[in-house]
Amino acid sequence: MSVQKPSLILSMLRMKCPSCRKGDAFVNKQIFPLGECLKMPDRCPVCAQKMEVESYRGQGMNYILTMLTFFLNIFWYWPIFGMSYKDNSIFYFAGTSAFVVILLQPYYMRMSRILYLYFLIKYGSGPKFKEQANQ
Ligand SMILES: [Zn+2]
Repeated sequence: MSVQKPSLILSMLRMKCPSCRKGDAFVNKQIFPLGECLKMPDRCPVCAQKMEVESYRGQGMNYILTMLTFFLNIFWYWPIFGMSYKDNSIFYFAGTSAFVVILLQPYYMRMSRILYLYFLIKYGSGPKFKEQANQ
């Protein structure tokens, strides 16, 4: 019996377990409550893959996403509000962009952790993966 492998990108966007791509990687589906937005189960409820990794270095990933967004914001900000080096508009942009980036932080923290887990854990490595795949 063969099982279709769920798409990598879609599973990442849905924040699914990197091993089975079925179980949820986070306890809460939404980022609220914020204090628990990074809460993960010890093991994936579907394939029992261990979700906590020894050395978590997702912060670097988060930094890249944050900086990227900060500069990419210029593509919607410029056409809407306009920017010029003659006035203070560059500072308004920096302020607005920083605000957007801060709003996205909880999502980015989750996304960078997911990226890191997908980097570390191969598809199908959960201990219960085989029995789950045959269902
Ligand atoms: Zn799993």
